[in-house]
Amino acid sequence: MLTLRGKGVSGGVAIGRARVVRREKIKVARGVVTDIEAEWRRYEAALQATVDELERLYEWSREEIGQTSAQIFSVHAMMAQDEDFNDAVRAEIGNKSNAEYAVSQAAKHFAATFSDMDDAYMRERASDVGDIADRILRHLLLRNGQGGVLSESEESRAGDIICAEDLTPSETVQLDRSEVSAFVTALGSANSHTAILSRTMNLPAVVSIGAGLNHIEDGVLLAVDADNGRVYVDPDAPTLRELRLRIEQNAHTRELLQKYRGRESRTLDGHRIEICANIGGVEDMKDVLRNDADGIGLFRSEFLYLGRQDFPSEEEQFEAYRRVLQSMPGKRVVVRTLDIGADKQAAYFGLAAEENPALGLRAIRISLTRPDVFLTQARALLRASHYGRLAVMFPFITSMGEVMRLRALWSKAEDELREQGIPYSDSVEIGIMIETPAAAVISDRLAPLVDFFSIGSNDLTQYTLALDRQNAALDEFYNSHHEAVLRLIRHTVAAARRAGIWVGICGELGADVSLTEEFIRMGIDELSVTPAAVLPLRERVCTLRLDRTDKSGRRNVNKEENEW
Ligand code: PEP
Ligand code: MG
Repeated sequence: MLTLRGKGVSGGVAIGRARVVRREKIKVARGVVTDIEAEWRRYEAALQATVDELERLYEWSREEIGQTSAQIFSVHAMMAQDEDFNDAVRAEIGNKSNAEYAVSQAAKHFAATFSDMDDAYMRERASDVGDIADRILRHLLLRNGQGGVLSESEESRAGDIICAEDLTPSETVQLDRSEVSAFVTALGSANSHTAILSRTMNLPAVVSIGAGLNHIEDGVLLAVDADNGRVYVDPDAPTLRELRLRIEQNAHTRELLQKYRGRESRTLDGHRIEICANIGGVEDMKDVLRNDADGIGLFRSEFLYLGRQDFPSEEEQFEAYRRVLQSMPGKRVVVRTLDIGADKQAAYFGLAAEENPALGLRAIRISLTRPDVFLTQARALLRASHYGRLAVMFPFITSMGEVMRLRALWSKAEDELREQGIPYSDSVEIGIMIETPAAAVISDRLAPLVDFFSIGSNDLTQYTLALDRQNAALDEFYNSHHEAVLRLIRHTVAAARRAGIWVGICGELGADVSLTEEFIRMGIDELSVTPAAVLPLRERVCTLRLDRTDKSGRRNVNKEENEW
């Protein structure tokens, strides 16, 4: 038995066969570029991302499996920065070739040079050049929304555990839950969308196992203890016994929580809140119903746009929204409009590569620069509103002007439908996400423009603490309990209450039961969490009593003074 250590990002235990997936060889075609300097900068950004990734892999591997095995990653990082290699790439880009083609040509040339050498050690370096070039190419393509396609081993068995170097959000949503029981990756951070998706999908997941991945062969038995970030390769009998027991205990805990189904989420002294579920698509509804959520607090609609070659049509989107609304009769369904960009890329949008995509053209910035895309979604949503209690919210807001422009576009979609005699509900609530410090600070000015706020604590933490949530090396600094984040939340809730609109939290912090009491005291109306977290959170709410003073001597709920 071999024990690998990583970070458990979605709890639970799973036992199954390893299904090792690799990216297919990347095919590169020559393209002609006009802006040579911009193409070189694109290459430099991908090279930097490659070197950072290799350095991280080296650090993890050194700690986990020792210096000797880890060495390969620092050698690769050095080779990627080799001056001759980079000169060759620059020369090819200077010939107006695209960066992908330049990298593949330089790699071909260097691999051939190594293969011709007398020294056996140097000859072996030829395959390293190929590996490094693939890594750079993947970063170039990822920035374009293509990550290379995952190729799986031939045989797939129910209960398999997917093992991969990394998974993009679009690859994760495409995992077939009837076949997959967990996943394990060499890379990955705790706050990425891939990690969030694994929780939404209720899949135990361990990321950041580094070079430990090389020790997992396809078909070998694995036991994944995601609560403790451990992966056991070929587990021994006592480990299997212990983990099987934990699987039974988890099932028993879930069973006990069943008594909270069908109950209101109300504290012992009568404060009621709504506990809703976050979903990525129609396929999550089974889990939502099983866990008896009070509504949908966040439908990440961008997942309808990922993992495909072209935009989803109005009809296709309408069907998805209608199905979700119809399975939640009488309950509110909050759909967030498109939040593409940053780590969620789709090549067919044709967006230019960016140096800082998290600060770039993302979410409503795309909706406002591509109103055609927004209007298609707005029409689909409005048509679906006829079938249930729809609310819509706009992500990544930083100003009042953005809200007004989006509302104007929304009205345009309403006018179109009215003129065409297509029915829609005229009571769709319009809200915004508060996930940038700017929006939180001016929440008092934004509140009169909307029907509700939903606080996105994941991005609010990222942007408040100036900390890339995708970067696994920063996980230890990512602190959603930071006083600055909590003050912004408090301020936002107070602004919402003063304006008389409802306010929820749909970021991961909403599921943190250590803060539930604090949130209710602030005056939060709704918490939206992954479906599997609904009943544990309801249990927490139903066992709380607020009509006593808390540690700081506060007695009342909704106290507004001193919110900063
Ligand atoms: C958030 O930022 O908290 C949020 C809910 O949105 P996402 O995690 O999809 O960015
Ligand atoms: Mg967000």
